[in-house]
Amino acid sequence: MTVSPGYEPEVSAQLFERASAVIPGGVNSPVRAFHSVGGTPRFITEASGYTMTDADGNKYVDLICSWGPMIHGHAHPAVVDAVQKAASTGLSFGAPTEREIALAEEIVRRVGPVDQVRLVNSGTEATMSAVRLARGFTGRTKIVKFSGCYHGHVDALLADAGSGLATFGLPTSPGVTGAQASDTIVVPYNDLAAVEAVFAENPDQIACIITEAAAGNMGAVPPVPGFNAGLRRLATDNGALLIMDEVMTGFRVSAAGWYGIDGIAGDLYTFGKVMSGGLPAAAFGGRADVMAYLAPAGPVYQAGTLSGNPVAVAAGLASLQLADAAVYEKLQKNSERLGGLLGDALTEAGVRHHVQFAGTMVSVFFSDGPVTDYAGAKAAETWRYPAFFHEALARGVYPPPSAFEAWFVSAALDDAAFEIIADALPHAARAAARAEAGTK
Ligand SMILES: *Cc1c(COP(=O)(O)O)cnc(C)c1O
Repeated sequence: MTVSPGYEPEVSAQLFERASAVIPGGVNSPVRAFHSVGGTPRFITEASGYTMTDADGNKYVDLICSWGPMIHGHAHPAVVDAVQKAASTGLSFGAPTEREIALAEEIVRRVGPVDQVRLVNSGTEATMSAVRLARGFTGRTKIVKFSGCYHGHVDALLADAGSGLATFGLPTSPGVTGAQASDTIVVPYNDLAAVEAVFAENPDQIACIITEAAAGNMGAVPPVPGFNAGLRRLATDNGALLIMDEVMTGFRVSAAGWYGIDGIAGDLYTFGKVMSGGLPAAAFGGRADVMAYLAPAGPVYQAGTLSGNPVAVAAGLASLQLADAAVYEKLQKNSERLGGLLGDALTEAGVRHHVQFAGTMVSVFFSDGPVTDYAGAKAAETWRYPAFFHEALARGVYPPPSAFEAWFVSAALDDAAFEIIADALPHAARAAARAEAGTK
């Protein structure tokens, strides 16, 4: 169904008020609060295939897919069946199960450089543990990350570059100490010369480089040709490890994630989102000699009461087993089709824009040319996005509620879904054209 623009969802508004009394900001993860687009966050009651339904009964074509996990669409029968079967035989044991081996084997089979994996509960836990392991393995303290790349809310990774010549990171959130941030060196994404300089300035001190294998958290910003290969070379030459964060790209952009696209091997990998099937599960893994440093095999401590949870593992395993070549082909086609419609609508409305892909992740930047780093993403006309977003939402299409997020397609999108999208986007594009700088 479609609703008229400017419409305020009554039941969602009531729920948001009630939520705000007992949950900070009314949500359990900040982007859900719609702060960067304004308006009332939609409370979701159910979802099936490509459709999400809110508490007011409005239906939306979902282009977020739970921020990545739902590549098969919502409530896929095979995944739901696996979850129900697992749940009926016990929710958690605190002891190993065979299904955990099967999920680890599936990941190891898909991603060549990964010899072993440890299952955890969130992407944040995966990157936190991978960084600790890299520090423990190398005996070094400093880490390198890229501005605009997000790796979860790990203290050391909530850092950004200071101004001027300072090479140490500054906290991006109160509660992160200067000491935690200052061991993190933050450089611009896609700037290999900056990474080279950082290694020259910090000899034998850098434990690891952590990078999104293709950036998706400032919008979809793929590595420029040679960037990942350059990171690989610099890490190896300087005795540091390369952590490929594939929490977003993993098992979405190809069967082997971004590794399946550029073939550049990391020493360690982090996964989450798609491999969770939509339940709380994530993983980190990599070279056998590095993973051997992890407790109980080795000295670096890491643990989890619910790690490898049998129900979450069942969802993840079923989801990966469903994700065959045909599914990846569908995701590719659907992302190209979405990108094409976005470009057509914005061109028609006369809005300067650049539709950008990182594999099957899509972004639209209100800029003239490609965006290659965070500064470029911020320089775009992001103030056009709230009007664009709300017009799409009012017409039954649910894009990410932030200009800095990638759009995620599922394999469940069909001609009927694309018809709704194709009807909505021209209106959204015209709203973007009418938007004025400085307004929300
Ligand atoms: C989502 C994400 C994370 C954090 O995962 P959570 O499960 O939200 O903690 C880490 N890295 C990347 C690249 C992500 O996209």
